[in-house]
Amino acid sequence: MNFLITGAAGFLGSSLANQLAREGHQVRGLDDLSTGDPKSLSPDVHFTRGDVSDRPKLWTLLQEVDVVYHLAARVSVPESVLYPRDYNNVNVGGTVALMEAMRDVGVRRVVLASSGAVYGDLADQPLTESLTPAPRSPYAVSKLSAEYYVRTIGGLWGIETVSLRIFNAYGPGQHLPASHPPVVPHYLRQALRGGTLVAHGDGSQTRDYVYVDDVVSALVAAATAPNVNGLVINVGSGTETSIKDLINHVLDTTGNKAEVIYNAKTSGGVSRMRADLTLANQKLNYRPSLSLADGLRLTLKRDARFK
Ligand code: NAD
Repeated sequence: MNFLITGAAGFLGSSLANQLAREGHQVRGLDDLSTGDPKSLSPDVHFTRGDVSDRPKLWTLLQEVDVVYHLAARVSVPESVLYPRDYNNVNVGGTVALMEAMRDVGVRRVVLASSGAVYGDLADQPLTESLTPAPRSPYAVSKLSAEYYVRTIGGLWGIETVSLRIFNAYGPGQHLPASHPPVVPHYLRQALRGGTLVAHGDGSQTRDYVYVDDVVSALVAAATAPNVNGLVINVGSGTETSIKDLINHVLDTTGNKAEVIYNAKTSGGVSRMRADLTLANQKLNYRPSLSLADGLRLTLKRDARFK
């Protein structure tokens, strides 16, 4: 098959692109390299640098494409609080531009990388797709609106759409910016350096951490799964882990003793997150295969930054 992946040079995009190329598909990747690194892509992926809102470029890249994976986005919840306009421009505007270009060219299906963040702080756990989302950050709002735009424009023009609500993905190659880094690689790096691990709140807040290979298997399945048009589907591990337990796992895996500080003055964010995977199992035959302990071990082993 022919694929276009936006955000292809990013953490999830590059793993997906390399996997599809390994399976023998034709893979085109688009990324503006704002955070992505094209060196993470195998030579079999045809990479183009560009913005996801550049419709003339999209018209060219979309020729003969069967399925588009839309992953290009700004991805930090705390950064989105500071720069909501940027998040709206890229995550919402970029999605609308892509959908327009797909309509113009005529593409069969789009798979959107949405986020478990759209649920917000809900008491009902595990989180099922039928719950009413209550986004709490501009990032989460942008992802929810991207879901609506994809489904609505897709419905109007006969493009099949699937939105995967990915929970906290982690693994080798995850982008580690100096400010607002994602928690898993940040803790791993701090522990390896013998630095301090700072947790917001009392550390009892839970997240559903899912290893990158499991996310990629769900993304791959979403390209061809039957009877998924218009659906949103959770992709997680189905297990909730508190920040305290994550810290213990990180210290066990690295074998290091780091200082741990709980900052009760800052909010730990959403209290609980655990994905219900019934729909993913039914529609995508999805079963997460790696525990957090195994995933952390693989991350250390496969990511040169942690050597
Ligand atoms: P990432 O930052 O590594 O990847 C995003 C990529 O998009 C980057 O390579 C970046 O350079 C590119 N990009 C940003 N703006 C662009 C633009 N205007 N035009 C073209 N490219 C642009 O992040 P990731 O973790 O790989 O996330 C990929 C997707 O999955 C995102 O849509 C994100 O919202 C979603 N997601 C990720 C997680 C997670 O835990 N990693 C969870 C839920 C959803």
